[in-house]
Amino acid sequence: MRKILLVEPAYRNKFPPLGLMKLSTYHKLRGDYISFEKGLNPAKKNQQWDIIYISTLFTFYWKATIKTIDYYLNSVKDKSNIVVGGITATLLGDELEMEFPGITVKRGLLNKRGDIDCANGIIIDELIPDYSLLDDIDYEYSLKDSYIAYATKGCPRRCKFCAVHRIEPDFIHYLPLKKQVICVDEIYGKKQDLILMDNNALASDKFEVIIADILDLGFERGAKLNGRKRIVDFNQGLDMRYVTDKKMQLLARTAIEPLRIAFDDISMQQQYEDTITCASKYGLLELSNYVLYNYKDTPEDFYQRLRVNVLLNEKLGTKIYSFPMKYIPLNAKDRTFVGRHWNKRIIRGIQCVLLATRGLISPKRPFFEAAFGKSYEEFLKIVYMPDEYIIYRRNHENNGAFEWRKTYSQLTSNQMNQFLEIISDNKIEEKDVVRQKSKRLKTILSHYIESKR
Ligand code: SF4
Repeated sequence: MRKILLVEPAYRNKFPPLGLMKLSTYHKLRGDYISFEKGLNPAKKNQQWDIIYISTLFTFYWKATIKTIDYYLNSVKDKSNIVVGGITATLLGDELEMEFPGITVKRGLLNKRGDIDCANGIIIDELIPDYSLLDDIDYEYSLKDSYIAYATKGCPRRCKFCAVHRIEPDFIHYLPLKKQVICVDEIYGKKQDLILMDNNALASDKFEVIIADILDLGFERGAKLNGRKRIVDFNQGLDMRYVTDKKMQLLARTAIEPLRIAFDDISMQQQYEDTITCASKYGLLELSNYVLYNYKDTPEDFYQRLRVNVLLNEKLGTKIYSFPMKYIPLNAKDRTFVGRHWNKRIIRGIQCVLLATRGLISPKRPFFEAAFGKSYEEFLKIVYMPDEYIIYRRNHENNGAFEWRKTYSQLTSNQMNQFLEIISDNKIEEKDVVRQKSKRLKTILSHYIESKR
């Protein structure tokens, strides 16, 4: 019996770590002892383990990932028994090997025989995840009471901002969904919801079979379990370029909620509107929209995409919740990247608005306009304000923010250019205020210093 430690670094994650859960199943089949940890635990660090598996997520969690590997490095006899897998391991594997010579980095999926323990015939990726693992720790994954499954793997597209083709290079049109769910039922009991992690299910030529599986599994529209509504969620979003009337009709037969559609580029506005119109025709009114920003888009087209959703809601009776997703390059080790048409102040301003609205962009026009402005010009006026004026807008409405807005509207175009140049890197200091000759510039810039006090 070997002693196996499974570790997920301490970053926040609502999804249970499927890879580690499948490794747990594998090692339990082999009769090994398993322990699971979220982050750093001195009691576990001080033991000796035969193998320590460390999962990784986005590359911008680089610091937390490195810290975790470093922490457990001496808890195995041989460094090769530290096995690191997952997204960062795939995208920045060489750098991990340079940072920690001798560790084992597993790139891509564990979908070949002998990926672990070379000589055996088990494919880890096909195993049923060990849900009991999640009871070992205090951390609560919010999607714990869900089947987390795949009906397809990979994606036939290769969008430049997306890592899927590097992690799952082959598009597999169909995986036996029913088997995955039924096996979980048998071992761990029924779960409430079905979360599908497919990257591009609509591209599958077996889409009808996938829907039939979902219906057979008891996730038809209106389905309930223990008196509660059941939900199917294609969590990674659906690709509108593959939407047809027929596919939307099929989706509407399931308990899908919300229907997630990405709207990454303003040039796709017409197609996006047609897709939402089609969804509403079949009664799919609860929608969620991933809005990529800070990529090749401009702040103006970001604002317009949010506004399109509000207008569609009014026209179609839909409830589209927008979820802005900030673009970060696939190999970035932090989240500081700023896109070509963006600057730090605007990005920070958007984050402050989202903090004020608790990350939720209301589907209703009055709330949207209060948060993001009635026009692009108003949007800019909001995101340029000092953080505190945006986050605690009510508290500052009648004094600081009022004064700021008054001075902002009085800036000449020359002063405006200077002002924007100074605030764009979002680091306004006392010396920036002092060195201004114009009184208006001094006044407006001093708000960034004063509001922090
Ligand atoms: S369609 Fe979606 S999953 Fe496929 S490459 Fe583009 S962003 Fe990634």
